[in-house]
Amino acid sequence: MPETFVIPPPPAASVAVAGEARRFPVRRIFCVALNYAAHAREMGKEPGAEPPFFFTKPADAVVESGATIPFPGLTQNLHHEIELVAALVAGGAGIAPERALDCVFGYAAGIDLTRRDMQTAARNAGRPWDMSKGFDHSAPIGAIRPASQIGHPAEGRIALRVNGALRQEGDLSDMIWSLPRIIADISRYVALAPGDLIFTGTPSGVSAMQPGDVAEGEIEGAGSVRVAFAG
Ligand code: MN
Repeated sequence: MPETFVIPPPPAASVAVAGEARRFPVRRIFCVALNYAAHAREMGKEPGAEPPFFFTKPADAVVESGATIPFPGLTQNLHHEIELVAALVAGGAGIAPERALDCVFGYAAGIDLTRRDMQTAARNAGRPWDMSKGFDHSAPIGAIRPASQIGHPAEGRIALRVNGALRQEGDLSDMIWSLPRIIADISRYVALAPGDLIFTGTPSGVSAMQPGDVAEGEIEGAGSVRVAFAG
């Protein structure tokens, strides 16, 4: 029998599902920038002045909650961004906002790790964000809670602590662009598909972390996420 692949195919990236032995397979990771006014301001931007824009991380950037990960190199300013993550069970192109939530399997708390110094330099030079956002281990994520159990959280506290000290705090209702709008918008650029994750943006309070730090995020109704950096 001929082998199918010339090298072993990579393992499928996946995320835990709360209360389930079965896991959620990750196809792609989409992220929304500047979706909370106070965070847009702390980044030096006028909130909502332009339509939402998006960037991606590789599927295998996901990290299981509770893991200890290497502290990334090439940065002196590694930031945490706690975000509500939507996990898609269906997709399509040109999804109407009114139908968008039908595409959501469930929700999790995720951290969009960011090499802020590298991102700022890329932004100022008109270069891509990939290496500042889509590096190894850049997407820690908690267990997904099915929407069939928790509904579609549109309000509730979202917060993150580093070494026990509160750094970020906001409310899901502070989002500039709602999840239906985000899903509809992304689906105009690409056909969304089952397995896609969408990071929906972060409230204010992003700050630098150091080797040995522990970041713990919590979202009312959507669970928690914890990641430690090797010292
Ligand atoms: Mn983010």
